[in-house]
Amino acid sequence: MDATRRALLGAAAMGAAGLALVQNAAGAEASDAGKPGDGGVGRNAVQLPPGAKVASHNPKDIQAMPEFKYALDGNVPKITSGGWAKESTLHQLPVSTGLAGVHMFLNPGASRELHWHAIAAEWAFVIDGQCQTMVLEPSGASEINNFQPGDLWYFEKGHGHSIQTIGDKPCHFILSFNNGAFSEHGTFSITDWIDVTPKDILAANFNLPKDLFDAFPKGETYIQAGPIVPVSQALEAPWPKESTHKFRLLKDPRAVRDFDGGTFRIASVDEFPASHNMTGGLMIIDKGKQRNLHWHTNANEFHYYLRGKGQVAIFGSGGRSKLTDVQTGDAVYIPAGYGHAIKNVGDEPLEIVQTWDNGKFEEIDLDHWVRASPNYLLSNNFVGVPESTISKMKQT
Ligand code: MN
Ligand code: MN
Repeated sequence: MDATRRALLGAAAMGAAGLALVQNAAGAEASDAGKPGDGGVGRNAVQLPPGAKVASHNPKDIQAMPEFKYALDGNVPKITSGGWAKESTLHQLPVSTGLAGVHMFLNPGASRELHWHAIAAEWAFVIDGQCQTMVLEPSGASEINNFQPGDLWYFEKGHGHSIQTIGDKPCHFILSFNNGAFSEHGTFSITDWIDVTPKDILAANFNLPKDLFDAFPKGETYIQAGPIVPVSQALEAPWPKESTHKFRLLKDPRAVRDFDGGTFRIASVDEFPASHNMTGGLMIIDKGKQRNLHWHTNANEFHYYLRGKGQVAIFGSGGRSKLTDVQTGDAVYIPAGYGHAIKNVGDEPLEIVQTWDNGKFEEIDLDHWVRASPNYLLSNNFVGVPESTISKMKQT
């Protein structure tokens, strides 16, 4: 029931005083200037409030855009006898709550000791050199794999693992973890555990005399230098393809997902079943080209720049955006749902290791959306833009 009819019924019951009320109600309705938000409630919302031509939204009510980039390779490394690691976590880049990244370097013969992580799974892309991993699952089953450049591994949160260089070249790789709070300074390493555990407990545990534990390392070894393990002597004990912790990203045809402007190799849970809660890949954007505007429906995105110079344009809603210059050694974090594009502005290919904190890979491209939409919708949406421009947009 609208205000006028309600007032009329009231007037019938109230006589002369009611008639005055009717006139007041009708007058108020005619002169109602309207305000944003006065457009009616529930089923009574039948028309636009008069005069409401300006959005009431105030962009200043929204938080400023955060920083999305951190110079990962500019960070102070954690160094021990056999190698080093540099990281980008939410401690360095507060926006990166969902994913952390590490660049780890092992000299020939070095090993990243037996360890596990309490709070994150580990995903890796081998940049150069060769290495071997061993992983132990709670079932008691273990897998040993040898890796070359372009290969990936994935270890579930809490599973025991180690990494050792094989051959006479150093090995280095990018690690990504599905928790921004993860740090290489907080892993559970076997030397650290043995060092801090009472000797009588160790003696009973391994059925050995207590004094034999005096020879064990003090503190955390982390990455230990050692003699070179020749590739020919590196034992391998791989699992079947459906369950293995290794994926040959640059060799497996299932990983190919090229785009206009470059190449993209990706391993989601569909190609690499072990990696059930992370997706990762390598994107190479050609000189002068870009990865067009898109967003991810179900995951945060992490970048590590292997080579080149680029710009990342990020859209954060509410009138917020940021254009960030990126170069070799940088990490970038894009929160789930944030629109983004990546442009190669250098004179060589722009190579990016990318990870997402979801095994299912999902994205939506802006140009696909425009092509799928009726012209009358687009003409309304982009008011003032000629039909000819709309048609050209749909031909891209
Ligand atoms: Mn690890
Ligand atoms: Mn993306």
